[in-house]
Amino acid sequence: MSRVYNFCSGPAALPEAVLKKAQAELLDWHGAGVSVMEMSHRSAEFMSILASAKARLTRLLDINDDYEILFVQGGASTLFAQIPANLTNGFDSACYLDTGAWSSKAIKEAKRYTDVKVVASSKEKKYLTVPDFSTLQLDEKAAYLHLCPNETIGGLEFADLPETSLPIIADLSSTILSRKIDVSQYGMIYAGAQKNVGPAGVVICIVRKDLLKRCDDSLPSIWNFANLAANDSMINTPPTFAIYLADLVFEWLEEQGGVAAMEALNIRKAQALYDYIDASTFYSNPIDPAFRSRMNVPFILSDQSLDALFIKESEAAGLRTLAGHRSVGGMRASIYNAMPMEGIQALIAFMAAFEKRHG
Ligand code: PMP
Repeated sequence: MSRVYNFCSGPAALPEAVLKKAQAELLDWHGAGVSVMEMSHRSAEFMSILASAKARLTRLLDINDDYEILFVQGGASTLFAQIPANLTNGFDSACYLDTGAWSSKAIKEAKRYTDVKVVASSKEKKYLTVPDFSTLQLDEKAAYLHLCPNETIGGLEFADLPETSLPIIADLSSTILSRKIDVSQYGMIYAGAQKNVGPAGVVICIVRKDLLKRCDDSLPSIWNFANLAANDSMINTPPTFAIYLADLVFEWLEEQGGVAAMEALNIRKAQALYDYIDASTFYSNPIDPAFRSRMNVPFILSDQSLDALFIKESEAAGLRTLAGHRSVGGMRASIYNAMPMEGIQALIAFMAAFEKRHG
């Protein structure tokens, strides 16, 4: 068996130690005589896994009692609809910041439920930068302000939040647990698990309890955040194995020193790769340097006729899934928490050798 460096944007690489632990526990979880996949979600064993995942996430992100943690099914895209369905009740509009492909998708879904006010967009700048927050056309009577601080496809990330009295709702799919965040600045955070948390199939939601009063009975009960909170995310059968894996990833993160330690490593990883790209005339990154993503590093070859060869040779060198998203082309290295520094060094060494051969 040989594992390669996996640069997929999601489902992304998982820590090898986590996979090994899951493998060791697969046939018989802690003496239960069955795997986690085979046990009732209402069993004491699974309830202990769910409680452990919540407790670890609470510690890792320093979440206070004003918030509920929900494990929601269906992917972050489901939340694009579920959020306006739940949280615009009693309001005439919702504000959205448009910084790329994922915020645009969230806007498209929200329009089915409410009057969407796009407070600013960097579309005309090809989503290569983030609008100046002082220009935002905020409607302080709106239900909330939605943003996506890490645009996975574009490779754009921002850390500061706009000044507003509105609850801020953030799609942190590509950010969660990669850098320190102050949860108390948000009304709600949500993140598809398949990047920094675990396998696909579950979305981590952290929602301020007072917002749950907006969820009304006209919602399908399975979609109702207040109902999910009241039932500990178990209105029906939750994705038990995904939640178990998330708990193992949270445990691994605690062993690594938590989010602060991860962030320090992520800064070094991203810096090494951007420094190499910036020093090269063969590769380039188009994003405004103030807003480059630490997790998703797109780069283009000066001679794009070499793209297919780059993919072929990188795969042969044990560097998997470096092709950029089909909508933007080029290359993209997604370097979430589970990507070690050695993976970055291997990528840089390959890029240098490729340039030497074909540049
Ligand atoms: N938001 C962001 C920022 C994403 O990167 C993705 C997936 N790559 C999504 C939403 C959609 O996630 P899902 O496939 O879980 O619906």
